[in-house]
Amino acid sequence: MNPIKLGIIGCGIAARDLHWPALQNLTDQFEITAVCNHTEPKAKQFAQMVGDVPYVLDYHELLRRPDVEAVDIVLPIHLNYQATKDALQAGKHVIVEKPLAANLSEAAEMVEFEDKYPQVMMVAENFRYHAVFDRVRYHLAQGKIGKPYAVFWNIFFLVDSKNKYTRTQWRVDHQYPGGFILDGGIHNIALLRHLFGDIVSGIAFTKSVNPNIGEIDSMSFQFETADGAHGMLNIFLSARGFSENRFLVLGDEGSILVEGNKILIEKEDVIELEETVETDGGYQAEFEDFYQAIRTGKNVVSSFAEAYRDLEVLINALESAKTWPHI
Ligand code: NAP
Repeated sequence: MNPIKLGIIGCGIAARDLHWPALQNLTDQFEITAVCNHTEPKAKQFAQMVGDVPYVLDYHELLRRPDVEAVDIVLPIHLNYQATKDALQAGKHVIVEKPLAANLSEAAEMVEFEDKYPQVMMVAENFRYHAVFDRVRYHLAQGKIGKPYAVFWNIFFLVDSKNKYTRTQWRVDHQYPGGFILDGGIHNIALLRHLFGDIVSGIAFTKSVNPNIGEIDSMSFQFETADGAHGMLNIFLSARGFSENRFLVLGDEGSILVEGNKILIEKEDVIELEETVETDGGYQAEFEDFYQAIRTGKNVVSSFAEAYRDLEVLINALESAKTWPHI
């Protein structure tokens, strides 16, 4: 099938725990030919893990390799812009982890890359490929709950010093607004936009409960979509005790509830549908999209332009928290 020769830049948690398992199922589409991490033990260990491939400590060296056609950028968020630009200038196709960039000015320049460079570029926003939400999208398109008019998404859990992500110092000393709320919340904004169209207005409340994990860790964002649906996204990452991830859509003929992998559709007090969807979170499907775009020329689902708008909505929401009107 002519696998794409892939270089991986950044050998941390996401590369190891999320991308590598997906790529192991796609050996007909991707062959990892080199990896890079600026600290040698991680580079060496990951290189051995993915098949004893060569490793380098400077990604510019990886970009000079003729046996690398495409790169998977899995670096701290504030490095996305420069690494993506360098990779495109070196003629490589790029898949870069979310969010697109650490700020809107870098993100805006990255959107221009879509016209400037002929290669494929996409953001690894796995929620745009998530099998559970693909089913929700299908049910909504089938009119299973009529016209959706409200969505409520509650995400309450504890991110403390023991969390593997908190141990990446760049997340605690984050060089982008919103800390963990931006890092994680970008998925939720992307998915909401994917299902309900653009978010056109809104206001957020933000709070820091545990200052040890960054600038803020709690947000309520009330919003409206272009189609007139109203919603509330609640992300509270210092929730002790009860935790939940509950996604509820109200339509004028019924409602859809998603908890974990389980989807329920209820109408008039009757459960009309109950299904459990197997998913890896969308990581394999995003790489398949990247492959198809490179080899067949199809457009990617998760473009830089979409990722820019995800970031803009979330950064504007964070800004709105500073200017609540008096009532
Ligand atoms: P991480 O564990 O810190 O991984 C980043 C890696 O990059 C580390 O191994 C780090 O090495 C290395 N690195 C830092 N600067 C470098 C440089 N200049 N050149 C080469 N290597 C360098 O972080 P992560 O959790 O994997 O996150 C990485 C990216 O994945 C972020 O964009 C994040 O938003 C995204 N992510 C996405 C998901 C998802 O579900 N889609 C989940 C998690 C993360 P050292 O540790 O030795 O400094």
